[in-house]
Amino acid sequence: MADLRKIIHVDLDAFFAAVEQRDYPELRGKPVIVGGDPAGRGVVATCSYEARHYGIHSAMTAARARSLCPQAIFLRPRMEAYRDSSRQIMTILHRYTSLIEPLSLDEAFLDVTAATANGILAVQIAREIRASVRQETGLTISAGVSYNKLLAKLASDWRKPDGLFVIPPEKGLAFLSPLSVGKLHGVGPATVKKLSAMGIHTVLDLRNTPRETLIAQFGKAGAWFAEIARGRDHRPVQPSRARKSVGVERTFPQNLEDRHRMLSILQEMAGQVSAHLQAQGLAGRTVGIKVRFADFTTVTRAYSYSQSIWRPETIHACLPGLLDKALSSGSPPSIRLLGVTVSSLNKGEESLSNAGQMNLLASEA
Ligand SMILES: [Mg+2]
Repeated sequence: MADLRKIIHVDLDAFFAAVEQRDYPELRGKPVIVGGDPAGRGVVATCSYEARHYGIHSAMTAARARSLCPQAIFLRPRMEAYRDSSRQIMTILHRYTSLIEPLSLDEAFLDVTAATANGILAVQIAREIRASVRQETGLTISAGVSYNKLLAKLASDWRKPDGLFVIPPEKGLAFLSPLSVGKLHGVGPATVKKLSAMGIHTVLDLRNTPRETLIAQFGKAGAWFAEIARGRDHRPVQPSRARKSVGVERTFPQNLEDRHRMLSILQEMAGQVSAHLQAQGLAGRTVGIKVRFADFTTVTRAYSYSQSIWRPETIHACLPGLLDKALSSGSPPSIRLLGVTVSSLNKGEESLSNAGQMNLLASEA
């Protein structure tokens, strides 16, 4: 019973739409839908709260959204802008713990058990995170605080948008009891239907059903349902796996035949790779290029420095040599794809990660 973990779940409110409304003030207070083309087969990725009043939600077809709210403003996603904001927010989260599990660009679990050892409360951390995100990014983020992932996630949803909610251990069961089973992690529509046929509608109903009955009915999943009905969830917060390389590649609408053009495209990609490295506080020793010829033969060539590098000019320096080696492999120089990667990464170099963060802040100014 004694589960001493302190888990926070944070989730930005209507993230893509909120970034658009932040960057384009004329969109504020209006139904904004970010996603695919309403004239085609696109779907809604995110919509503003104003759009939600019309019954619009993500994953709905954009065409249906337009029929529900013809005056809605449809925008195509600007993924680079969303990634920038996401990186900024992850930087804020990293001030409190390195035990961060991102679920998507706008959502993450944090295990702040260690950070709370010296008396600071998890709810204080959640408050600070919310204030910093608002101040530094102009976006609102909801937070839930509890003793496991299941409840922290339910908590962040409870006061959305721009909310904060805490479920302490002694209130976990009472919070769960009246919820419909479909709110639980891992209980999808098919399971809800099956449970409903068994007369199980709320989490309390689920808790009152013998574990054996659930296992007989749902197998291994049944054992999980019995656990979460009792507010028990021992899943650890799993930091994202360390990346092995950072790279960019591009397929061209028409094959390239001019070496100078190939080189200038590789250099442009090197700049993007460098920016990704800086944003994540990473550096690497090995620069690689990938060249795919018209006949789909693919050649990779790499060069390793004796020290870690991340600056664009250092990545540039070895590109002409690598390109010559790749092109001398015999196939005719008609190229359909080029790519640049930096691998043999190391992270956590303090000076470097600071430099990366400063660079992010500088680019905000
Ligand atoms: Mg969200």
